[in-house]
Amino acid sequence: MTQAPDARTAELAAALAATRRRIDAAAESADRDPGEVTLLVVTKFFPADDVLRLLDLGEREFGESREPEAGRKMAAVRAASDVEFAADMIGSVQRKKAGGIARWARRVHSVDSLALIEAFDGASSRAQDSGDRTGPLGMMLQVSLDGDPDRGGLPVSGLAQAADRVLASPDALRLDGLMLIAPLGMDPGEAMSRLAEIRSHFLDRYPDARELSAGMSGDLESAIAHGSTCVRVGTAIMGARPILSL
Ligand SMILES: *Cc1c(COP(=O)(O)O)cnc(C)c1O
Repeated sequence: MTQAPDARTAELAAALAATRRRIDAAAESADRDPGEVTLLVVTKFFPADDVLRLLDLGEREFGESREPEAGRKMAAVRAASDVEFAADMIGSVQRKKAGGIARWARRVHSVDSLALIEAFDGASSRAQDSGDRTGPLGMMLQVSLDGDPDRGGLPVSGLAQAADRVLASPDALRLDGLMLIAPLGMDPGEAMSRLAEIRSHFLDRYPDARELSAGMSGDLESAIAHGSTCVRVGTAIMGARPILSL
């Protein structure tokens, strides 16, 4: 952005500061270093101009949930700014969208099937061959605690097979860790503590897959208390999502 800070920038700055205070307080109560917790600002449904404002405010990691809107938005931001940043796919993904996502995403948080891993394997290789990406695409395996197909996720019994499939394609894919969207109707504290236990077994077998993407505007404290390394915060920073898409 080239204009002087505007009212929207001031609003975002205040909401960011409040969110950082929540993260710091939660880390402190859990005896953790706040630097271990990444804030991923979820910019889905908000325009490229807001991402540019967030870059001006020093944010460098963003989450998006819909392709192809996300790819277009990120291309617009990269065309308007030289600042380096990372954008992650956090929403549920259709296989046919893997090709587009592999061109802009650092990692995908919502990986929940072997078929999707296959699709990203091919998509990442093709994006590297065409010069649209460098390096492997990070895979976060989304864990389902309740088997709700609407919320997505792999059953705990399917995690090892999915992880092994990711590790079989080290040039195209990288196994980053686990992700949770807390089930509806389950107490977030209970969901996070079950996730922490699953993660501890997962780390025994996959010690390099240390990322844990858990916690949103409403439940980031409990996620941080249970080991989250990445909170995905939309509403608390951006405000209520606009009704119109994008
Ligand atoms: C939208 C979204 C978020 C952000 O949720 P808020 O409650 O707005 O903070 C986090 N994670 C996923 C997967 C999302 O789709």
